[in-house]
Amino acid sequence: MEKVAIITGASRGIGREIAKSLAKKGIKVIANYNHSKEKAENLKKELQKEGYEIEIYKADVSKKSECKKLVEYTLEKYKKIDILINNAGIDKYQLVTEVTENDWNEIINTNLYSAFCMCQEVLPNMIHNKKGCIINISSIWGIVGASTEVVYSISKAGMDGLTKALAKEVGPSNIRVNSIAPGYIETDINKDVTQEEKNEILKTIPLEKIGEPTDIAKCVNWLIEDNYTTGQIISINGGWVIY
Ligand code: NAD
Repeated sequence: MEKVAIITGASRGIGREIAKSLAKKGIKVIANYNHSKEKAENLKKELQKEGYEIEIYKADVSKKSECKKLVEYTLEKYKKIDILINNAGIDKYQLVTEVTENDWNEIINTNLYSAFCMCQEVLPNMIHNKKGCIINISSIWGIVGASTEVVYSISKAGMDGLTKALAKEVGPSNIRVNSIAPGYIETDINKDVTQEEKNEILKTIPLEKIGEPTDIAKCVNWLIEDNYTTGQIISINGGWVIY
């Protein structure tokens, strides 16, 4: 049977592009969304028109109980999970002194706790099958830190920590765990960045271009095909951050 993949936060942006590219490879995709039902349905219809089927499933992955339901639904439908892409994420620009407990919980739960819970939920099946590929979409800010995005940076560094530790723990079960740490990618998460700010950023990117969701999807496809890469943080950033 074809591979089965869960992608969190797949109604738009990077997750949407990953969902499209995997579906077009014949992978059974469960595209998770939270609020954007219409966008998720449009994605399903768009792919249907091209002859590809995907499942869409509503779940707020910042909550463990909803991660559990998403995985249970997938297992009921396909009996196995080969690929998990932890992509759902949010960002808030604020000074560290302005961060409330609510901000902290929202960002950490959406970006980091969701990835942890999703891994916990899919792993029994992957371990049983002695096969799996987990990809955490982190960020360059988890590597080098971003001013006014302290909690976001913490959450993404946490995802990279999850990647490294879990790769060691589940490697013997033939499960690979990697992070993709994007630089600046043109999506809604950057909708408040002005054209002037974007021009300034562009000056500091050696490849002199802003990334596209397809740049991340290509790396996801490569990691799925690969057999010997695990515990790595692969930064797709046009040379913006070289470390
Ligand atoms: P985006 O805002 O378009 O996509 C984020 C997706 O996550 C949305 O579909 C949103 O609905 C979903 N989401 C948020 N909270 C959720 C929840 N509780 N449950 C389910 N889904 C939820 O932005 P994007 O750029 O496509 O972001 C995808 C990932 O890439 C994020 O984790 C983001 O941090 C990361 N990233 C993006 C960039 C960039 O420049 N675009 C850079 C580095 C990392």
